[in-house]
Amino acid sequence: MGKDTQFVKEIADIETDFPQWYTDVVLKTKLVDYGPVKGTMVIRPYGYAIWENIQREMDARFKAAGVENAYFPLLIPMSFMTKEAEHVEGFAPEVAVVTHAGGGKLEEPLVVRPTSETIIGHMMGKWVESWRDLPLRLNQWCNVMRWEKTTRPFLRTSEFLWQEGHSVYATGEEAEQETLRMLNLYREFAENVLCMPVLTGRKTEKEKFAGAVATYGMEAMMHDGKSLQSGTTHYMGQNFAKAFNIQYTGKDGALEYGYTMSYGVSTRLIGAIIMTHGDSRGLILPPPVAPVQVIIVPIAMKKEGVLEAANALKEELQAADIRAKVDDTDNSPGWKYNEWEMKGVPLRIELGPRDIENKKFVAVRRDETEKKEYERADAVQTVQTLLEQISKNLFAIAKQRMEERILNANTLPELLYGVNNGYFIRAGWCGDRACEDKVKEVAQATARVIDEHNDAQTCVCCGKKSLHTVFFARAY
Ligand code: ZN
Repeated sequence: MGKDTQFVKEIADIETDFPQWYTDVVLKTKLVDYGPVKGTMVIRPYGYAIWENIQREMDARFKAAGVENAYFPLLIPMSFMTKEAEHVEGFAPEVAVVTHAGGGKLEEPLVVRPTSETIIGHMMGKWVESWRDLPLRLNQWCNVMRWEKTTRPFLRTSEFLWQEGHSVYATGEEAEQETLRMLNLYREFAENVLCMPVLTGRKTEKEKFAGAVATYGMEAMMHDGKSLQSGTTHYMGQNFAKAFNIQYTGKDGALEYGYTMSYGVSTRLIGAIIMTHGDSRGLILPPPVAPVQVIIVPIAMKKEGVLEAANALKEELQAADIRAKVDDTDNSPGWKYNEWEMKGVPLRIELGPRDIENKKFVAVRRDETEKKEYERADAVQTVQTLLEQISKNLFAIAKQRMEERILNANTLPELLYGVNNGYFIRAGWCGDRACEDKVKEVAQATARVIDEHNDAQTCVCCGKKSLHTVFFARAY
C-alpha cells in the first residue's frame, strides 16, 4: 500500500494547485516534455497518439463535408504579411522571421507561418479564374509558430500542430454559411469525440481574428472554471480576396472578388481534454481518442495460462477495433492500476486464474471505482457497451458542471464574485469597447462568445441598455 500511495502523491492536488496538477500530469503520463528552446514542447508517443486519433476523426468529417487536403510552404515572404493591414498588425509581435539562409543574408525576410491566410490567398488568386472554380475548399494539417515567452504544454507554446481550413466562395452569404457550418462541425466533434460540452458563438470585435469581418469561437469550461478557446472559424468578407487578388469571372462575364473564410483547431484540444475530464488521480481520456482504451492487467501472471488468456482477450478485442493492451511488465498489479489510472485509460480489465477458471473477467471503469464481474464469452460486446457508457458519462459530468457554473450577473461586483469563484458569467453588454476593457481590468475576464439567446436588459459595466448577452470568463 505504501508504494501505491506514494505514487499518487507525485501529482499535485487538483483542487488546491491546479496549475501544478496540470504540469505534473502532462509530464508524468509522458504526453510531452519541454524542448531545448524555451517555448517549445516535444509531443511524446502517448500524446501524439491522442493527436493522431483527433486528426483521424476530424479529417473524416472534413472529407465527408467535401473539403480536400493540401500542403503549403512553411516560409512566407514578409511582403505577403503586410498586404492585409489588420492581419500584419495582429501577428507582428508573434512572428519569427528568417533573415539568413544558405550562408548569406536573404533579399527578402521570410516569415515562419503563424497561420496561412496570406500564402493560401496568394495561391488561390492564381488558381481561381471563373465561377466554375468556386467554391474552392482546402485544408492543411501542419505546424505553426507564434512566439511565446512562457511555456504551457498544449496551451501556450511557440510551435504547435493544427489544421487550418481555407475556402473561397462566390458570395458572402455562402462563405458566412460555411463559417457557421464549420463551427457546428467543431461543436459536434467536441461533444461526441472529446465528450466535452462547449459554448459557441460570435466573438466581439476586440476578440476577433486579425483581418476577419467576424470570428466565431468554441469555448470549453476547464476544471478550475477558466475558459479554453478550443476552436475558431472566421468570415473574412473580401478583405483577403482584395489583398491577394482572388478574382473570378461571374456567369455574366463580370470580374468579381471572391469571399473567403478559414477555421482551425490545434493540439490545444489535448489540453482541453486534460483539464475538462482529469481528476485527483490523473488523466481521464475520452474513449474515442484514448490511445489505449482497455488495459488488461494479468493477476498472478507467472501462473500457467494467465498471460496466454490475457493475450487471447486482447486479440479478440483488437479484432473488434478496440485499442487493447496487456501490461505484462514485472510491476505489481497495484502499481499497474495506479499507472494506468494516471494515464487515463478508460477501462481496466483484471484477469487471474480464478476468473479464467470461472469464465469471467473483472472490469473497472476509470470514471468509477468499483470492480464488476462479467462473462468472458460476452467480452467484446461488454467492452463496447462500457466504453460507450463512459463516453456518455464523461460528457454528462462535464455538461452538468458547466451548467451549474454559469452565473447571470447584473453588476461588476457580481461579475467579479463569479469569476473569483470559478464561474462563467452571462451578462448584458452595451457594445462599447470601453466597458469590455473595464471588465478585463477589474476582473481579468474577457468576452468569450456572444450568446445567441439575447435576454439581458442592461450592460453589466455601465448600466446602459444592453446590446448583446455575453459570456465572460477568465481564459487560458
Ligand atoms: Zn456598457
